[in-house]
Amino acid sequence: MTINNLSPAEVTRYARQMALDGWGREAQEKLKSSRVLIAGAGGLASSVAVYLLSTGVGAIRMVDQSRVTLSDLNHQILYRERDLGKSKATVAERRLKDLNPFSLVEGQSKTISEHNISRLAANCNLIIDAMNNAPAGYLLNQAAVKFRLPLIHAWVWEMDGRVTTFWPGQGPCLACAFPEASNGHKSALLGPMPGIMGALQALEALRILGGMGPALMGRLMMFKGDQFNFHEKPVKANPQCLVCRRLYP
Ligand SMILES: [Zn+2]
Repeated sequence: MTINNLSPAEVTRYARQMALDGWGREAQEKLKSSRVLIAGAGGLASSVAVYLLSTGVGAIRMVDQSRVTLSDLNHQILYRERDLGKSKATVAERRLKDLNPFSLVEGQSKTISEHNISRLAANCNLIIDAMNNAPAGYLLNQAAVKFRLPLIHAWVWEMDGRVTTFWPGQGPCLACAFPEASNGHKSALLGPMPGIMGALQALEALRILGGMGPALMGRLMMFKGDQFNFHEKPVKANPQCLVCRRLYP
């Protein structure tokens, strides 16, 4: 049996999504053969990981060096009171394995750096930027450029969120859109905001991995939670981008 074959239990498990027009068995098997790097194990990552696992992505590598604190529990839905003080990567791995035994989950408790990012991303099909941390985003972007991987980026602060897909070689990279890191890190956050933006990242990832194609490449989608509206603006590849211009003739 190859890794792509779906067992009867998996066919039942995914029946609701396999009944969708444009999804079906072929897309489900593509999903099963996919590996995703999720950078971060906080609020965005909790939401992304639960949806990617529950829908049958074959393998997930989740990387985060931090431990669960009490103020994480208002928005990081993977964790419980009993997890306080424990490694997020370790707890997340255990909880996600409970969710879907047909997928491989690997939690790595480490800081993503220029020394390990290539190794972490090397055999993945897609990168999720769930760090809410600008310097880390640029490291992920370097790997996306190196391996020409889609990088689904999201960011949340207070009642605002943004999400977009970078795909070096096919569309803009993160440095095309944001040549310089934005200043400051606001820690005020209402729980559902990372949940919403993480769910959008998961939906976009499923579209790409399942073969429907990206919806957010070249589109920076922003959600204002205080006004309950979405708006967007275009993002273009920058021919002078210092990070990705070599990919273009
Ligand atoms: Zn670029």
